[in-house]
Amino acid sequence: MSNKTLQLPDYLHEYLVAHGPAETPELRRLREETARLPMAGMQIAPEQGQFLAFLVRLIGARRVVEVGVFTGYSALWQALALPEAGRLVGCDINAEWTRIAEEYWAAAGVDDRIELRLGPAKDTLDTLLDESGEGSFDFAFIDADKENYEAYYERCLRLLRPGGVCAIDNVLWSGRVAKPRCRDADTLALRAFNERLSRDERVHMAMVPIADGVSLAIKR
Ligand code: SAM
Ligand code: CA
Repeated sequence: MSNKTLQLPDYLHEYLVAHGPAETPELRRLREETARLPMAGMQIAPEQGQFLAFLVRLIGARRVVEVGVFTGYSALWQALALPEAGRLVGCDINAEWTRIAEEYWAAAGVDDRIELRLGPAKDTLDTLLDESGEGSFDFAFIDADKENYEAYYERCLRLLRPGGVCAIDNVLWSGRVAKPRCRDADTLALRAFNERLSRDERVHMAMVPIADGVSLAIKR
């Protein structure tokens, strides 16, 4: 896994990031603090944060669901792109990492826009379907355990309104999806997911080679 766009040399990655919207001080400090954690590679790339925020603004999203929060960097980019009355529901199972997330969301003044739900994301998404109903969200970002991507996608698709967008992270998996000899569980899950999504007639989709690959699906 990589948290910078695949194959880009460092100098060009720096140029790319520097010529997108600047991180707020809280985003920068959160990225720097997360970089000191052993699992830092799980965080999305800064250029991907810029891109997610752009997508949220592009579709005028007001309700966002994120599956896989970690220390809250991707959620913070998206929350900052929401209008004041917008809401992001973040799903994760890890209280230690999400404590860092909550600290930075508060420092950035968007904690009232973000609701963290701790627990297996499949259950949380089912609860959201019960509570808010189908078509009640505008944007979904899936970035948790890869073997459950299919289950998360199916639930997010139901949660999205027609015209809503689902973004799915790590679809290139450092290139492993395209190497038949790679047959570990995560690679097999992502490969099968990519196959199905490319043929899913319920959406219009595109695979974008930013960071570790992001697929975008618009609900028809
Ligand atoms: N989007 C985050 C960011 O940019 O910083 C990175 C998310 S990280 C790749 C994946 C997260 O999924 C971890 O924080 C992990 O605790 C969470 N996770 C793993 N299995 C989960 C599950 N069954 N339900 C909810 N969250 C889960
Ligand atoms: Ca990821």
